[in-house]
Amino acid sequence: MTLDATHDPRLRSWVESANDPATDFPIQNLPFGVFRRAQSNESPRAGMAIGDRILDLAAATDAGMLRDVPTDALVACARPELNHLMRLGRGAARALRIAASDLLRADAARQADAASRILVPIADAELFVPAAIGDYTDFYASVHHATNVGSMFRPDNPLLPNYKWVPIGYHGRASSIVVSGTAVRRPAGQTRDPDQSEPTYGPSRRLDYELEVGAFIAEGNALGAPISIGDAEMHVFGLCLVNDWSARDIQTWEYQPLGPFLAKNFATTVSPWVVTFDALAPFRARAYPRPVGDPAPLPHLFSQNDTNSGGVDLTLEVWLASAQMRERGIAPMRVSRGSFTGMYWTIGQLVAHHTSNGCDLRPGDLLASGTVSGPTKESRGCLLERAWRGTEPIELPSGETRAFLQDGDEVIMRGYCERSGHRRIGFGECRGVVLSAPRRQVGRQVAGFTINV
Ligand code: CA
Repeated sequence: MTLDATHDPRLRSWVESANDPATDFPIQNLPFGVFRRAQSNESPRAGMAIGDRILDLAAATDAGMLRDVPTDALVACARPELNHLMRLGRGAARALRIAASDLLRADAARQADAASRILVPIADAELFVPAAIGDYTDFYASVHHATNVGSMFRPDNPLLPNYKWVPIGYHGRASSIVVSGTAVRRPAGQTRDPDQSEPTYGPSRRLDYELEVGAFIAEGNALGAPISIGDAEMHVFGLCLVNDWSARDIQTWEYQPLGPFLAKNFATTVSPWVVTFDALAPFRARAYPRPVGDPAPLPHLFSQNDTNSGGVDLTLEVWLASAQMRERGIAPMRVSRGSFTGMYWTIGQLVAHHTSNGCDLRPGDLLASGTVSGPTKESRGCLLERAWRGTEPIELPSGETRAFLQDGDEVIMRGYCERSGHRRIGFGECRGVVLSAPRRQVGRQVAGFTINV
């Protein structure tokens, strides 16, 4: 991946907010999303974040402002999900990003008078899940996460023998994927405490978040035709943030022998902006250096390019605000900060593995990385690890403590790339408030639970 004029750190935009050093969306980023003006009857359509504005790609197309973009890519921008654009492959997105960069750069100021026609304040917009996600797969690619969680349940043998050979994953649920800002209901389910002889049905008492990175598929592959590791990244449109909400008590009771089911499929939150691999080009990193003694990836999961630059130098943070903190005007507290460079498997390896049996991926499919945890306590990407199964609760600035999420808690995930000599770019936020469990699901068996509304 080569750098071009769109990555030039000196590039500035006539959209003034895009020049703020703190913005996630400078002109060097230009992530894709789907939006419309809030409280309007407009059709959702494709846009790009620029500073605190959205470039309306359909309006810019109508105004003839996007140069050298294939017609089918321009037509795709008017559609209410990005699948049509994703289907055209990464080249179409690259052409749009270059055209938008040319349109928005400061020395193209002749376009500034058109701003009101082609820009919408993000604050005035309704944002959507960026693609109609046909299939959602969740992996388990952080060896630190797998080791931490494994050690809670199998202290002597935390990593199962397959872990370093095969990227572990499961098929998730696409219908319950929601966009950042959507409140999430605490699920009810069947659980069994260690001191109980029989399970009961009621609201989860061990609700957790999982900090993950999602990859949207661009061009798919035909059924029966695996994607090689060398081609894998060309099938990825871009990345977003994912919160894979998880009910640990439901999970513990149900997960054997077929894996997660109702503990995970009640909600998954995605950030609204998809950051392309083109925008991420200055921030690529070596794949995780496997410790001496670990097996090399099998040939179908190995390429020198992937080893050299299959990683992404992306910093990820989780912030938490309780209802009481918000009422008292206390700012959210950062709970963790880690790096995506510590993942055992690259995005390319996840794509190659997923299709290695002939399984077909389709444009708009979502692959999530699994919880991103690092080697330090501060870099653990879920509460199960961060508060170590409830034994080391987190103290909030309000004086409250958290072992698992309470009703009213808001989880805020952020991601950004910083590297000397390059403009910082960010992913925006992936946030959601926990609502109390639905009343109708609170049965007689759980009448004794206090349910905070
Ligand atoms: Ca997960």
